[in-house]
Amino acid sequence: MRVRLKDKDFELYIPRTRIDQEVSRLAAEMKEAGIGDRTVFVGVLKGAFMFFSDLMKHMPAGSRQEFVFARSYAGTQSTGRVEMQGLNTLALEGCDVILVEDIVDSGLTANYLAGQFQETGALRVRICAFLFKSEVYRGLREIDFVGIHIPNYFVVGYGLDYEEEGRCLPDIYRLLS
Ligand code: 5GP
Repeated sequence: MRVRLKDKDFELYIPRTRIDQEVSRLAAEMKEAGIGDRTVFVGVLKGAFMFFSDLMKHMPAGSRQEFVFARSYAGTQSTGRVEMQGLNTLALEGCDVILVEDIVDSGLTANYLAGQFQETGALRVRICAFLFKSEVYRGLREIDFVGIHIPNYFVVGYGLDYEEEGRCLPDIYRLLS
C-alpha cells in the first residue's frame, strides 16, 4: 500500500496490528519496571500524540500526563537545533518521569529534554521511544523503553509527519527513494 504526501511517495512499513502488539508489550514492560501511580508521563508534541494516547490507556489512573512541544525537523532532515515550548510550566520536582517520544533519531531532543527535567528536580528520568533509529543515535542516555528498532528510514504516520501531512495515518510508512 502506498501514500503520496506533497511531493513524496511512501510505502506501508509497520501495520497497525504490529503497532498495537508493541504498545501492549511496552506497557507490560513498563509496569514490570515499577511504573505506577506516582509516575509523570511527558509526551513530546506533535509527533507522540497517537503513541502517547495508546500507551496511556494501559497506565494507572493515578499517573499524571503532561506535554511539551518540540521541533527539530524541517522536511525530511534534522535542523540540528531543538525549539521547545511548555518546559517552564512542568512541575516535576521529586517525580519519577517518563519522557514519551514518537521516534528517537540522533537523540538530540530526548537527551536535551531529559537533562532539563533533571535540572528542574525530577528524581528519576527515563526515556520511552516508540521507534528508535539506534544506528544514528548519538546521545549518551540510554533509551529505557523501545517499541521497534528501525534503520535510518524517514517514516510517517502514527503521529509522524512530512511537512505536517500524514500524522493521522494509523499505520507507519517509509519514504520510497
Ligand atoms: P532527534 O532529536 O532524535 O534527532 O529527532 C527527534 C525528532 O525528529 C522526532 O521527535 C521527530 O519529530 C523528528 N524525526 C526524526 N526522525 C523522523 C522520521 O523518520 N520521520 C519523521 N516524520 N520525523 C522524524
